[in-house]
Amino acid sequence: MTAPARHWYPEEADDWGELQARQAKVLPDLVRRLRDRSQLYAERLADTDPDGVDELARLQDLPFTTKDDLRAGQAQRVTGAILGRQQAVDTEQIEQVISSSGTTGTPVYFGLTRADREAWTDAIGAFYSTAGLGPGSVAGLSTGMPMVAGGIPYADGIRRTGAALVWFGGQTTPRMVGTLERLRVDTLVATASFVAMFADRVEEVLGRPARELGVRTIVSGGEPGMGLPEVRAGVMDKWGATRISEVMGLGDVLPGIWAECEAGAGMHFTPVRDVLVELVDPDSGAQLAWEDGASGELVYTTIRREATPVLRFRSRDHAVVTGMGCACGRRTPRIRCVGRTDDMLIYKAMNVFPSAIREVALGAAGGAVHEVVRIRKASAEQVRFDDPIPLEVQATKPLDDAALADLRARIEGAVRERLRVRVAVEFVPPGTFAITGDKNSIVYVAG
Ligand SMILES: [Zn+2]
Repeated sequence: MTAPARHWYPEEADDWGELQARQAKVLPDLVRRLRDRSQLYAERLADTDPDGVDELARLQDLPFTTKDDLRAGQAQRVTGAILGRQQAVDTEQIEQVISSSGTTGTPVYFGLTRADREAWTDAIGAFYSTAGLGPGSVAGLSTGMPMVAGGIPYADGIRRTGAALVWFGGQTTPRMVGTLERLRVDTLVATASFVAMFADRVEEVLGRPARELGVRTIVSGGEPGMGLPEVRAGVMDKWGATRISEVMGLGDVLPGIWAECEAGAGMHFTPVRDVLVELVDPDSGAQLAWEDGASGELVYTTIRREATPVLRFRSRDHAVVTGMGCACGRRTPRIRCVGRTDDMLIYKAMNVFPSAIREVALGAAGGAVHEVVRIRKASAEQVRFDDPIPLEVQATKPLDDAALADLRARIEGAVRERLRVRVAVEFVPPGTFAITGDKNSIVYVAG
């Protein structure tokens, strides 16, 4: 495989350590600006000497920012600042306000100045370009809401790649299906849940399988599932796709941060001019080295964001580094997101992510169980398990008792061996898991 001649930013091919060292040169100025302009950071950085934060390792001396900090900062009214204590510019400089998707809790709002909006468009362009969009692509965007990060900012970034934007979201299902068909959309940009669910809608509306539509590239993310080989294979088969690019971003930081290249072996870090990323130990908070196989929580600092900058924002996303070099020529890290701190379960003294249990279970079953598996919790608050964790799976075809017992033993054995936790496999009746990729499918509460 030969490397393509160019990337969006030439520095994507630079040595990662050197690139991060160059990024870190902005830190003294950044700390000074945050302290002077944002009430939230004026307090937190009151005792910090900006000139002492002159390299990446020194970032560790500074406090983290959490989603709760941002939410609390916005809850307080600040004269002249519509976005509360985080806001770091005058309101008259804000050109647009974006909302977090707000599926849980109070939404958080982010502001964009003209320079922020241009920086986002370019960085999201880089992100979608890495994921396979460009001149000649006919790209369907499924988002239904303009105000969220996946709305106008994604639309702007898609256009920036040179692709033709077909923003088909927010219409009735038949109209959405009709738009995909009429305009011969070849690239679908949607959440994993939408991608899985919508293939079935296409078939209901058109009476023909989704694979006959002409979608060949699927750009999708928002949840760990798209990294699983079994899930990818299922989605590609349904749509007749030849490429899946997993992507990930955060409105709090930048909606396009990680995107998979044509190698399809993990998501590259793409916003090399806008975001500084740290990999940290979630318990101690210490920085970890970027190397193959390393895993930790992703922490982000915005380099030049003006309106609502963040310093050391804890994403709660846990990543595994899948590679530090790539056939595409980029030397930015590649990762898979393996789960969120909020999702983590504890079996006796072992930490385990539901997504990891699913990955191992599906791998051990070798296609014999449906790609949706469910972990049953006794209450929404349950995190600790002293007995084997109940794991509900559905066989993909009728099996006799002996075959079921064998399948159960295979899954339980693989989970015990690979993750050092115990699960108790229970088979659910055929048809229980119809829709694939449901965001809430991995864990549920016994009702
Ligand atoms: Zn690559």
